[in-house]
Amino acid sequence: MTGPLDSFGRSINYLRISVTDRCNLRCLYCMPPEGVPQISHGEILSYEEIWTVVQAAAELGICKIRLTGGEPLIRADLPKLIKMISQVEGIEELSLTTNGTFLKKYVQELKQAGLSRVNVSLDTLKPDKFRYITRLGELKTVLEGIEAAKEAGFEPVKINMVVMRGINDDEILDFARMTYEDGWHVRFIELMPFKNVAEFVSSIELQQHISLLGKLEPCASITGNGPAIYYRLAGARGTIGFINPLTEHSFCSRCNRMRLTPDGKLRPCLLGEDEIDLKTPLRNNASVEELKSLILKAVTSKPEHHHLEGGNVRLVNRKMSQIGG
Ligand code: SAM
Repeated sequence: MTGPLDSFGRSINYLRISVTDRCNLRCLYCMPPEGVPQISHGEILSYEEIWTVVQAAAELGICKIRLTGGEPLIRADLPKLIKMISQVEGIEELSLTTNGTFLKKYVQELKQAGLSRVNVSLDTLKPDKFRYITRLGELKTVLEGIEAAKEAGFEPVKINMVVMRGINDDEILDFARMTYEDGWHVRFIELMPFKNVAEFVSSIELQQHISLLGKLEPCASITGNGPAIYYRLAGARGTIGFINPLTEHSFCSRCNRMRLTPDGKLRPCLLGEDEIDLKTPLRNNASVEELKSLILKAVTSKPEHHHLEGGNVRLVNRKMSQIGG
């Protein structure tokens, strides 16, 4: 479905909602070891408030919702929110991005509540390195979560790997191989320089490296019109996607999304600092029409592109975990 058009003719039909800024992991590129100051509970949108925003967004033609965080599965009773959103008229797809550590525990409830799809973030297949990158996690829990999601009928489960030079770039081929027998759908994400650009690996370099396994044949997206460009290795069941926010010239021209932060700010661009406050109007009993006009204001203020390319690194006012990656 076509969403509202922004000033550059892009149809904005996708809203990513961060349901919490809390996370049980402390990934190197995302959070410092001690975590970041937490948004107080009273500032975080309630499920009813999120649902009200989704209703207004759906009336404008926004039909895809993704729940993220922080770690969305640590927010209490997430299936309740999933059920509420999945019943909103006009919502065609409701998905979840998770670190996978609690997936096995909740997967059946998530399915029953009406979740359509799951993406799991996983940056290494080695237990020691997993602990190094996440500082707190156990690889086994994530692998079990991925299997449980497949068994529960979530298909495809996409695996998102952020590639970091000198940290996990030695595992690129191991991830690519998982698309053969295991049928994984792997997406390599370029590291966005919130912290350290020295570890950046471009997608061109990744593609050259993966070509050691065979030719990467372009293929259609397995689902939706997300940010990745997809390929398949001959004979592989799964696909390989590249998400190139830094090096792909047309990345922003294909952008169809906005983000809602846990404290109710609508962010037209992940890497821009503009935010439109929805929480205050929500708590002042704004009408659906008022919310719709604020959402449209965010749509029309969406910038043409971000400003990270060409080494032009700008500090952002929030950490990734506080925006919702
Ligand atoms: N906890 C959930 C998870 O791990 O998927 C959702 C939140 S996490 C912030 C969402 C995604 O953002 C993850 O795939 C993570 O790898 C990615 N991410 C965080 N910081 C990033 C960065 N600096 N560059 C690229 N991706 C990043």
